Amino acid sequence: MLGEFDIIARYFTRPARSAGLGVGDDAALVVAPTGLTLAITTDMLLEGRHFAKGVDPAALGHKALAVNLSDLAAMGADPRWFTLAIALPAADEAWLDAFANGLFALADREKCELIGGDTTRGPLTIAITAIGTLPTGHALRRDGACVGDDVWLSGATGEAALALAHAAGRVALPPGDAERCRERLDRPQPRVGLGRRLRSVANAAIDVSDGLAADLGHILERSKVGAEIELEAIPRAAPLVAAGDARLATECLLAGGDDYELVFTASPERRDAVARAAAAAGVPVSRIGRIVAGSALAIRDARGEPVALARAGFDHFAGGTDAP
Ligand code: ADP
Ligand code: MG
Repeated sequence: MLGEFDIIARYFTRPARSAGLGVGDDAALVVAPTGLTLAITTDMLLEGRHFAKGVDPAALGHKALAVNLSDLAAMGADPRWFTLAIALPAADEAWLDAFANGLFALADREKCELIGGDTTRGPLTIAITAIGTLPTGHALRRDGACVGDDVWLSGATGEAALALAHAAGRVALPPGDAERCRERLDRPQPRVGLGRRLRSVANAAIDVSDGLAADLGHILERSKVGAEIELEAIPRAAPLVAAGDARLATECLLAGGDDYELVFTASPERRDAVARAAAAAGVPVSRIGRIVAGSALAIRDARGEPVALARAGFDHFAGGTDAP
């Protein structure tokens, strides 16, 4: 039977690279980078709330880090280090092996080093704190949107929510689409390369975790501005179109959540710079509307009619449902 220290040593200890001292002492040591600002973020995943029991452990390892890297991306930060606090119901070696593989595959790809954490027995819970760096004064904050800015969206939203709708029996997707949407839900790709390149281009940014409308709403609130969004300008991934339920598709697009795309604003003078950043990052971007005076988020369809949303996005304390 594996003990706590066996688990840490076997699955979560690797030689320190950029850290001065990694896993194994009372605290990790990192040399504070001169001239850079640290971006620090924490996200927690609970079984039954953020993911269903029996989920693929490799996907879970990936997602637990991905959601944190998405927050760093939304600040324009370069990922550097992370800590992992994990509660496990049992020391299941096959499970731990797969979880660690999923986790480190993404960590290595994004050059983010595990430097410490905490391990305990309990209901399956994963809390990661990720630390990134960026040049001081260049963070992409929520409060920087200006009247006249374009509103941009990376990639496409809605597929993760469509996977949940499929799992809940609200829609029956063909097998290929079901698989593609499940992949988006289980293995979100944080837009780290794009965020970094938008540092000197965008005025404000946020990552879409709770739904496009709700998260854009946070930018508007913090920047004290409004926005006009054109529904037709928001890209629709093929499975959303093929699902044949326009109402559900629109709901997934605007209020689905779990997308981990970036919504950002930039001056119209920076359109070429945005296009260059997107091309260099290999991520498509779409101009979906503009920032206006006021405080309202107006979304209009092709006929210019306002789009009404049953719910703006996900809120754990206001009717949010648990994972199936
Ligand atoms: P302490 O009792 O001093 O808090 P722990 O026994 O909790 O130390 O942890 C021992 C070492 O292992 C520490 O360096 C800690 O950061 C690291 N650690 C514990 N759990 C994890 C984990 N899940 N992932 C990475 N490092 C971990
Ligand atoms: Mg400890």
